[in-house]
Amino acid sequence: MGNRIRVYVDKNKCIGSTTCIYYAAQTFTLDSEGKSTVVNVDGNDSNKIQEAADSCPINAITIVKDE
Ligand code: SF4
Repeated sequence: MGNRIRVYVDKNKCIGSTTCIYYAAQTFTLDSEGKSTVVNVDGNDSNKIQEAADSCPINAITIVKDE
């Protein structure tokens, strides 16, 4: 019940495509350098966040599940 997740964006890889924001707009936003950043790990359903991670063209998003 309610497994926690942690979400990381590798800003060295991020190309600012905004694809993750399309899938999980309450979780990711672009920072002032045009790189995705996590604003709220509970912003979207975890399956939406997973979709966002899967959709990232350069796999910059890592999700860690705390069992
Ligand atoms: S989908 Fe990937 S490359 Fe695009 S903004 Fe998000 S983290 Fe960056």
